[in-house]
Amino acid sequence: MTAQIIDGKAFAAKVRGKVAEHVARLKSEHSITPGLAVVLVGEDPASQVYVRSKGKMTVEVGMNSYEHKLEADTSQADLLALINKLNADPAVHGILVQLPLPDHLDEDLVINAIDPAKDVDGFHISNVGLLGTGQKSMVPCTPLGCLMMLRDHHGSLSGLDAVVIGRSNIVGKPMAQLLLGDSCTVTIAHSRTRDLPGVVRRADIVVAAVGRPEMVPGDWIKPGATVIDVGINRIDAPENGEGKTRLVGDCHFDSCAEVAGAITPVPGGVGPMTIACLLANTVTACCRANGVPEPE
Ligand code: NDP
Repeated sequence: MTAQIIDGKAFAAKVRGKVAEHVARLKSEHSITPGLAVVLVGEDPASQVYVRSKGKMTVEVGMNSYEHKLEADTSQADLLALINKLNADPAVHGILVQLPLPDHLDEDLVINAIDPAKDVDGFHISNVGLLGTGQKSMVPCTPLGCLMMLRDHHGSLSGLDAVVIGRSNIVGKPMAQLLLGDSCTVTIAHSRTRDLPGVVRRADIVVAAVGRPEMVPGDWIKPGATVIDVGINRIDAPENGEGKTRLVGDCHFDSCAEVAGAITPVPGGVGPMTIACLLANTVTACCRANGVPEPE
C-alpha cells in the first residue's frame, strides 16, 4: 500500500476538542450553553443509531441535547408544530430532522420550515442558496468534513481537478460547491455519466458519494490522487462467521490504496467527521444567534 491513510477518527476528535473548548468559553464568559435538538420520526434502526450517537457526542462536548422521538405515523401538522416550537425556543440553537422521513411526510416542506439560522444540517433552501453564491451559510456536515480533511492534507486546493461522484442534495451537490469555492476545477459525475472511469482518472481529488459497495476500483484512480470515500455500505462478510456483515465504502479500499496518494478508510474516515461538523455548526449557530465571535 502506498497511500497515506487520512484518519477521520483522529481528526474528528480534534474538531470535537476545539468545539468543547469553545462551548466552555461560551458558558464561562457569556453564560450561554449551546443546545441541539434532534427530531426522529419512526423507528428506522440506522437512524436510531445515528441519533443516539449524535446525542451522546453533543453532551460530551458540553452542549445541551434535546431529543424528540415521534411515532412513525406522526402527522405533518404535528411535526411542523414541533419545528415551530423549536424555532421559537431560545435554548435551541440547532435543529436537525433525521432523514429519511416516513413516506407520508414531505421532506422539503419540513426542512424548509426550520429557521435557516438553526438549520445545522444546511439543507434549508436559504442555506443552499447562500452556499451556491459564496455567502456565509450553514454548510452541510458531510461535505464540510470532507473539505476540512482535504484542506488539511493539501493546504491549498486551488487549481486541482476534482471529481465528485454523486449529485445528491445532501452530499454531492454541496461538495461540488465547496470544492468550487476553493478554486478546484469540478466535475460532478452521476449514473448517466459517460466513461466514468476516464472521468475519474483525470482527477487529483475523487469524492465518492454513490452508495454502491466498492464500486470504484484502483485502476480508475490517477497515481497520487486523494480519495475521499463518503459511502457507507453494509455487506455480507461470511469470512467473519455465519450471518456476519461489515461496512465498506464506495471505493475498493485495497486497490485504491495501492495507487492513491491519500485515502479515507470506511469506517473511520468521513463518518466521524460528519458528527464533529454537526457539533461545530451548532456552536457557530449559537455564536451567531448571540452576536459573539464564532469559531474559525
Ligand atoms: P443518493 O442515493 O441520494 O445519491 C447517490 C448518487 O450516486 C446519485 O447522484 C446517483 O446518480 C449516483 N450514482 C448511483 N449509481 C451510480 C453509478 N453506477 N455511477 C455513477 N453514479 C451513480 O446517496 P447520498 O448522496 O445520500 O449518499 C451516498 C453515500 O454516502 C451512501 O453510501 C450513504 O450511506 C453515504 N453517506 C455517508 C455519510 C457519512 O456521514 N459518511 C452521510 C451521508 C451519506 P443519479 O442522480 O443519476 O441517480
